Amino acid sequence: MRYIEMHAHMVSRTTDDYERMALTGCVAVSEPAFWAGWDRSTPEGFEDYFRQLTEFEPKRAQQYHIQHYTWLCLNPKEGDDRKLATEVVKRIPKYLDRPGVLGIGEIGVNRITLNEIETFKDHVQLAVDHNQMILIHTPHLEDKYKGTKIIVDNLLKFQKLDPSRVLVDHAEEHTIDMILSNGFHTGLTLYPNTKVSAQRAVDLVEMYGTERICVASACDWGPSVPVALPYFMMEMRRRKHPESLIDTMVYRNPAAFLEQSPKFMLPGEAQPAAVPAAK
Ligand SMILES: [Zn+2]
Repeated sequence: MRYIEMHAHMVSRTTDDYERMALTGCVAVSEPAFWAGWDRSTPEGFEDYFRQLTEFEPKRAQQYHIQHYTWLCLNPKEGDDRKLATEVVKRIPKYLDRPGVLGIGEIGVNRITLNEIETFKDHVQLAVDHNQMILIHTPHLEDKYKGTKIIVDNLLKFQKLDPSRVLVDHAEEHTIDMILSNGFHTGLTLYPNTKVSAQRAVDLVEMYGTERICVASACDWGPSVPVALPYFMMEMRRRKHPESLIDTMVYRNPAAFLEQSPKFMLPGEAQPAAVPAAK
């Protein structure tokens, strides 16, 4: 079965991972900009990363017939450095017209400092000014509820922002309702030991339905599984959910969200037209 991986940091994965994803049905990945595991020292370091995301990574994905889309920002963790953040935000617009760029993300808060919140708001304003979609990271720490609430409250202050063009990711049982009830899309990100498991994600789908909910691996340089979606699909089947419902969760819902960007094309549409048979 085909699937779209909504949240994968492929720059930190090997080509073997692309191969496993392709073999398990992945047809497109959406890769948000994130923290590299170490702090970058200059705005130029971010520009090099944006070039990696928009030039090198799509070519690597293409070798496995996987479409590659990306989101640009200075991540929540480094957002605490206001001087650096202000400079990087100024440099983002020149990359927004590149083919696979869908919007601004993953922005949000990490330790919920005042500086992080200011940087978050700068990014939202950037998205509004340039009519970009937004992908949002919510903190994984004990303050997930507080962080998600601050993010949602701040988003609602932007009157020109259309909530249906924003996905608030890393939702859990205690945050999903405030995200969905305010009109945003949400994401359940699957992790091997900590955070949301495939079982918990299926529980959430059974409780909240499928509307505006996506599932993703959120794989990065830490312990994570780039083929987490097939495990989610297997758990859905074990509980006897129909294939059409699984398709909605792993393909139709991500496509419906991403298609709001004119740059996203369903994998079938992006292929060159078939050569007609000779007469
Ligand atoms: Zn991420």
